[in-house]
Amino acid sequence: MTAMLPPGSTIGILGGGQLGRMSALAAAALGYRCHIYAPEDNSPGMQVAAARTVAPYTDAAALARFAAAVDVVTFEFENVPAATLDALAPLVPCRPGVAALRIGQDRIAEKRFFEQAGIPVGPWRAVHSLEDLQAGIAELGLPAVLKTTRMGYDGRGQAVLRRPEEAAEAFERLAPHPLILEAFIPFAKEVSAIAARGVDGTVVTFDAVENRHAHHILDLTFAPALVAESVAHQARAHVAALATALELVGVLALEMFLLPDGTLLANEMAPRPHNSGHWTMDACRHGQFELHMRAVAGLPLPEPGRHADSVMKNLVGPESFAAWPRLAAAPDVALHLYGKAEARPGRKLGHATRLLPCGTLANTSEPDLLAPL
Ligand code: AMP
Repeated sequence: MTAMLPPGSTIGILGGGQLGRMSALAAAALGYRCHIYAPEDNSPGMQVAAARTVAPYTDAAALARFAAAVDVVTFEFENVPAATLDALAPLVPCRPGVAALRIGQDRIAEKRFFEQAGIPVGPWRAVHSLEDLQAGIAELGLPAVLKTTRMGYDGRGQAVLRRPEEAAEAFERLAPHPLILEAFIPFAKEVSAIAARGVDGTVVTFDAVENRHAHHILDLTFAPALVAESVAHQARAHVAALATALELVGVLALEMFLLPDGTLLANEMAPRPHNSGHWTMDACRHGQFELHMRAVAGLPLPEPGRHADSVMKNLVGPESFAAWPRLAAAPDVALHLYGKAEARPGRKLGHATRLLPCGTLANTSEPDLLAPL
């Protein structure tokens, strides 16, 4: 493939969720077609894409047809089997490649990769057996967090251990093994940062943000994070270093814990656009989905150019979705709905981003910031 994918080319996206939908919309603005490949029909991404394949990720014949129909492949869903990218890679460029996918799918590989890249992490132990867990608890102390290493997202597949007696039950309940035991981090804030890296190795980063969770699901993102300049700089430097170490082409999000003394510890990464970057669609000249599609298509990566402060609120489940008519009418609120057929509890159905003039986030009380959301 030549460096820049010409307009009219087709970008293949594995996964049909809202991240694929917003990527496809951004790709369309750049003159590209998107072909979504996902196991479920009528997925949010397919509703706005030029072409679709409804097939399991393990269907070799469907994958070969998909590869022949697209010019480049990316993924929006991090639990796409690595074998799917292995099957596609000889046929079509895959951006990011399978290495980033593999590392992002395994919390133990991820922690090791952070350490190799020089990014601090909290104390952790791999847990293959109940004896490992008991030894880990003795070393790290309690409370501690026991997590599955694979297929965990939005807080699923984890348990906070507060007493030694809780260990055996949690070890049995959480699957598949191995698990990972992490020291409980008494963080002051949860911070994340996003980088985009191009085929030529250029890296640009978005402002670091603060995230708040409700029931283990992202609820609010405050952009920029109200943290010391040095912390914001460090967060961006960490994600940029990681994108470079991964030789990633595309967008990468890094979630971190900020300690009261200003230290940032990496928690997890996602080698794809991320919910904590949805604010960038409206508060930056070039949002995360545009930069992801640019990277995948081999286009130059401009600086994001943030032109507003913002607060992003996720619309999760039917109760929060019910607010959409009010949000649609609110001034300076950008509303994005994902076209999901069913408003099940706990499902991300859309988000709303309140835009404010640059510099006002720091001078506005939280109730005032959140009032329109
Ligand atoms: P994760 O799935 O790793 O993103 O974890 C979901 C949420 O659980 C995080 O956003 C934190 O709020 C909390 N959490 C996860 N790991 C830890 C930890 N080691 N210490 C304290 N809180 C944690």
